[in-house]
Formats: sequence, C-alpha cells, structure tokens
Amino acid sequence: MTDVKSMNLSELTEYITSNGFERFRAKQILDWIKRDAHSFDDMTNIPAKLRDFLKADAYLASAEIVRAQHSRIDDTVKYLYKLFDGEYVEGVLMSYHHGRTICISTQVGCKMGCTFCATGKSGFSRSLTASEMVAQIRSAETDCSERISNVVLMGMGEPFDNYDNVIRFLRLVSSEDSLNIGMRHITVSTCGIVPRMYEFADLKLQCGLSVSLHAPDDESRSRTMPINRRYPVAEVIRASRYYTEKTGRRITFEYALIDSENDSDETARSLASLLKGMLCHVNLIPVNNVTGAGYKKSSLKRQKVFVDILSAHGINATVRRTLGSDIDASCGQLRRKYTKGDA
Ligand code: SAH
Ligand code: SF4
Repeated sequence: MTDVKSMNLSELTEYITSNGFERFRAKQILDWIKRDAHSFDDMTNIPAKLRDFLKADAYLASAEIVRAQHSRIDDTVKYLYKLFDGEYVEGVLMSYHHGRTICISTQVGCKMGCTFCATGKSGFSRSLTASEMVAQIRSAETDCSERISNVVLMGMGEPFDNYDNVIRFLRLVSSEDSLNIGMRHITVSTCGIVPRMYEFADLKLQCGLSVSLHAPDDESRSRTMPINRRYPVAEVIRASRYYTEKTGRRITFEYALIDSENDSDETARSLASLLKGMLCHVNLIPVNNVTGAGYKKSSLKRQKVFVDILSAHGINATVRRTLGSDIDASCGQLRRKYTKGDA
C-alpha cells in the first residue's frame, strides 16, 4: 500500500500522473491531507475514479489517541497512540511560556538497550514512517485545539536508527504543504550514532540537536549505553563539534543524574574538561527509575554541586524542570503497560 501522507507535492504528482490521473489532483489531495481528512471518501472534489484507485492502492496513516493522561500539577498531557497495525507509541504535550511543545516517537520500541530507559527495555518492533510522526502532532493539535509550535524527537526510539524516515519527516513537517513548523523549532535527540550525526550536519537543516551523553568516560558510558561500545565518547564529541561548526547551532547534551553512578565531583570535572570550549548546553535530568535496574535520582544536594562544578568550569548547565512527574511523562513508561492487541 502506498503511504500518500509521507509524500511531498512532486512525489504525489508523479504517483498520480503515472497512474493516469491529472497532475493538479495531487495538490487537491495534499490540501485534504492538510485539513486532516480521515478517508479518501472525504475528498469530495476529486473524481470517484481517483478515489476508488486510492482506496485500493493507498492509505492514510494515522496515530489515534487511545489514552490521554492529564497531569494535575501542570498542563502536561501524555498520549498513547495506536497505529494502523495495532502498535502503540507515546507522545507528551508540554506547555511552556513560548507555546506548546510536543515530544513524539520515531520507532515502536528501540534497539539501543540503554539500561535506564523504559523504551530500551521493552524491545523493538518497527520504525515509524514520516506520516506517522506527523500524525502524532496532528492528533495532539486536534485534542488540545491549539497549534503546536515546537517538536522534539525524544519519545520512543532512536531517530538516527530510522534516519531516512526522520529526514523525510523533517522536510515534510516544515513545508507549507504540511504543518509549516520551522526547522529551528524542531530538535532531534540521538544516543550518538556517529556516522548519521555527520550526515545530518552536512544537510545543514538548522534543526536543534540533542546528544544523550550520560557519562564522560567510556567505561561508565558503556555500562549504561551499549551503543558506546560501537561509538565511544571521543567520537561522539568529535561529531558533536562538527555539528556546531557546520550549522552554527548550539548543541544540547542530555545527562541523566544517577545516584553513585555518574554524579561524583570527579565525574563533573571530567565532563567539564570533555566539553571545554564547545558551543553547548548541558541538560541535567534526575534519572527516573523506570527499568527496575535500581537506579536512584541523585540527591538535590548532589544535583546542585554537579551544576556548580560545571558552571565554575564555564560550562552552561541546568537541571531540567520535570513536567508531568505525576503521569510518568518519560517516554516508554505508559506504553510498557500496553502491548499490541490491547486498548
Ligand atoms: N533515542 C534518543 C531519543 C529518545 S530518549 C536518545 O536516546 O537521545 C529521550 C531522552 O530521554 C534521552 O536523552 C534519554 O537518554 C532520556 N532518558 C531515557 N530514559 C530516561 C530515564 N529513565 N531518566 C531520565 N532520562 C531518560
Ligand atoms: Fe533508545 Fe534513547 Fe532509550 Fe537509549 S535512551 S534505549 S537510545 S530511546
């Protein structure tokens, strides 16, 4: 079946004309997609013959919200989406003073197996198409009746393990034919798939990049992030520097503070020397213990000392404000309660 919602205007035109239909119909179909039509029958200004062809040969991807958990302490909403084949992914909608931000998923599960991550623990099923990524945003916009201005690819999955679909998504979602969300309002998060980081930098998309670092040395990083055995710290940092050089954009390093694992004074100092001179920001996140691995958040005092050491060395760092802490708003946690076939 053809995924028409992942196509841009020229691809859709090619698809339509090569099947014997007039080229201007492509724009009409795109307009319906933009208005979030749910079936080809809704596309009333296109001829029945073309609608019948589409019904037989194509599909309209969706991400149906089957559960929405609203936080009682802030405006955060956590969504459970059902995809066309009965798979589930999660998204989190957050409110900041500058507008609505959505965190979406790029894969059902993840292959990377980070020990602290609920998604990594639940295995891998498949990658999402570009249209399924857009659909998560559209469904959330309909649900909250507001425009979403910022997107982060920090939900389930490793974006750079689904590189082509993610790039297609970025181009699609930022185009006028789709949601028209500018690249500067989109952030991709990666665990450090180095070759893809270089490719991504070379595209010069002006997208934000977040790198999940979580430890400044190979021994500790390999313990929690198996991908580090393939792409060690030094290579991840080199690729990160390349990204800032190519795009001029500041990079964000994600760092989950885990009690007695990666939060000592010495670790803070080695992190500071690793990042010295880089155009970057360190986002410290007290770890959520979701995997049964026995991880504990660093104490408030440790968090503060850690930030202070980084700051004293000239490294820009903050402890992330945790939104939706009462609804388990870390991705992978809600979906773990559901598997294909439920809900
Ligand atoms: N695969 C990508 C994006 C999805 S994970 C990546 O790893 O970057 C989004 C972020 O949540 C990553 O920074 C990840 O390291 C972090 N994360 C995962 N589990 C966490 C937990 N239990 N506590 C705190 N942060 C976590
Ligand atoms: Fe995958 Fe990111 Fe979770 Fe690691 S932290 S298992 S890369 S989703």
